[in-house]
Amino acid sequence: MNEDLMLDEKLFGTVDFDPEALRARYQEERDLRVRPEGKAQYIPTKTGRFSSYSEDPWTEEKEREPLRDHTQVIVVGGGFGGLLQGARLFDQGIKDIRTIEIGGDFGGTWYWNRYPGAMCDIEAHIYLPLLEELNYAPKHRYSYGPEMLEISQRIGRDYGLYEKALFQTSVKDATWDEENARWVVRTDRGDEITADILIVACGRQSLPKLPGIPGIEDFEGHIFHSSRWDYDYTGGDASGGLLGLIDKKVGVIGTGATGLQVVPAVAEDAQELFVFQRTPSTVGVRGQQETPPDWVDMSQPGWQRERRANFQAHVQFGSRADVVVPELDLVADGWTSTFEVLAEPIDKIEARLGRTPDAEELNELSIINDYRVTNSLRSRIDEVVADPAVADALKPYYRWWCKRPGWHDDYLESFNRDNVHLVDTQGQGVEAFTKTGVIVGGKEFPLDCVIMATGFEATIEYTRLAGFEFHGRGTNLTDHWRKAGARTFHGMSTDKFPNLFFIGGNLQTTSSVNAVHLLDEQAQYVAHIVSNFVERGARTIEATTEAVDAWVQEIRTAPSNKSQFEFYLECTPGYYNNDGKAASMDDLFTGGRYGGGALAYYELLENWSDGSLEGFTTEN
Ligand code: NDP
Repeated sequence: MNEDLMLDEKLFGTVDFDPEALRARYQEERDLRVRPEGKAQYIPTKTGRFSSYSEDPWTEEKEREPLRDHTQVIVVGGGFGGLLQGARLFDQGIKDIRTIEIGGDFGGTWYWNRYPGAMCDIEAHIYLPLLEELNYAPKHRYSYGPEMLEISQRIGRDYGLYEKALFQTSVKDATWDEENARWVVRTDRGDEITADILIVACGRQSLPKLPGIPGIEDFEGHIFHSSRWDYDYTGGDASGGLLGLIDKKVGVIGTGATGLQVVPAVAEDAQELFVFQRTPSTVGVRGQQETPPDWVDMSQPGWQRERRANFQAHVQFGSRADVVVPELDLVADGWTSTFEVLAEPIDKIEARLGRTPDAEELNELSIINDYRVTNSLRSRIDEVVADPAVADALKPYYRWWCKRPGWHDDYLESFNRDNVHLVDTQGQGVEAFTKTGVIVGGKEFPLDCVIMATGFEATIEYTRLAGFEFHGRGTNLTDHWRKAGARTFHGMSTDKFPNLFFIGGNLQTTSSVNAVHLLDEQAQYVAHIVSNFVERGARTIEATTEAVDAWVQEIRTAPSNKSQFEFYLECTPGYYNNDGKAASMDDLFTGGRYGGGALAYYELLENWSDGSLEGFTTEN
């Protein structure tokens, strides 16, 4: 911290804490957690004892004959991204769509994650897709898992996507057929199907991941991953009632967004619950409630898009110099009120200071404001958790966005229950498994059951996310991007790969607190581009090398990417910063992003949907 600036109360307002002490503490906590092996601390779940974590517990496998046929469009992925893409293409009159999905139904994240208490911490009215089109009012302010699965199925039905969907099917390979100007897609079911257009919507984190804790393979108790919840063992359902646990000692490993939701649900029924914490999450007030019918005025056309844009304007990083923050905060929840402190509007700072602050001042102010946010979250823990030692151990010491911020109304309260025990691993994680339990700090905790809320493989590589290779014009995607790194146009297409689009990935797109907002804007853009291409009667559409180069250059030179990288360098390790090992912006989970912010990116996409197909070349 610049000492001279510290004296400037006009810039910072009253600072009633010691920023230097906090900075030192954050550094200390980070150093405690960085592991030399980085990401390699995790083991894949595709093979070995845990290979069932790649399987589907929710739908019985059905036999079917391999397919040989052609559709206008193939969409890989049946989560919210794939569903939105199908719906937005349908809106443009393109209805011959085949979805290919590994799971047994639509839903993606909400198909797999059926753990008790599963919910989304983004307001349902802006998170759930196509509410206006479906004329559906969410039941709660923050939607629960079953509702999100049901909405997925409803979209599948209303937009005719079930008709040609291939569930329980993984794509193995996609090859561009130059002669016939189409993609040939091969699957693990022996299908060889073709499409004029291939769209990939495979999410960002779908493969369950496990820490390679010594002895994990030898544990003789019950063990499962949060995304493959074993209701046969626990009893109950997504709403709770886990009566199978009433005589069980249960361990939950992992205190990320999933752990926060799992812990209160398990605490209700387990005889004893041990929560093994490596790094505490920040836990803001959720404010869950049933939504009365008049919660949102859904009568105005365009209400959902407007509400999403309003939310995005309120959760924009930086000093908001380039974003007009509307007076009215439509969503008005923990996210927006936190950003109110974190990213103070520039006019407020200018009014206080009597002039325009420079970049260094703004940066220092953002650090102080970040401390204000996390200080108040730490104070909240003291207010809620009765045992001061437990409260202290639950306090996170890192900048707010170093990890995905968490929200819950019952998580902290769970630690006031007699049957719930926090096992703070002092940043080291669980040391080892024995046949009968786990070891932390040299002490064994005997357990009947361990629930691994340890997250998902995080990557920005499309071949890894999709799980197959793309063979384009004279090259495959891995080789195409090997030398100079990822190359996209608007984050959704690339040269040498005609008639191919990606949506939903982090790569060279934008940062969106509401991930479904990003998905929808991208799906609409792709739907427009595809329908413009179809109207022209063209055979191929491909991003030009010049357009790709220009987009990559724009991303690489965006100052926000440099500052984001510097921010994550100082963060406690996690999947955002390649477990503390990020050596460049390309190693971040966010990758390089469009520097103008989400709203500007969406505007750009909308402008690009005007039919001119600028940046693309088409062949007849
Ligand atoms: P995360 O990767 O966020 O969390 C994994 C947890 O496992 C961390 O607490 C991690 O600790 C812990 N862990 C890993 N290894 C060990 C170990 N050896 N010993 C002890 N603990 C360990 O996964 P989640 O499933 O929580 O979340 C996955 C994604 O889904 C995130 O992006 C999340 O934001 C999202 N999500 C969103 C929700 C929503 O409401 N929108 C709801 C649920 C999930 P450490 O932090 O130290 O690495």
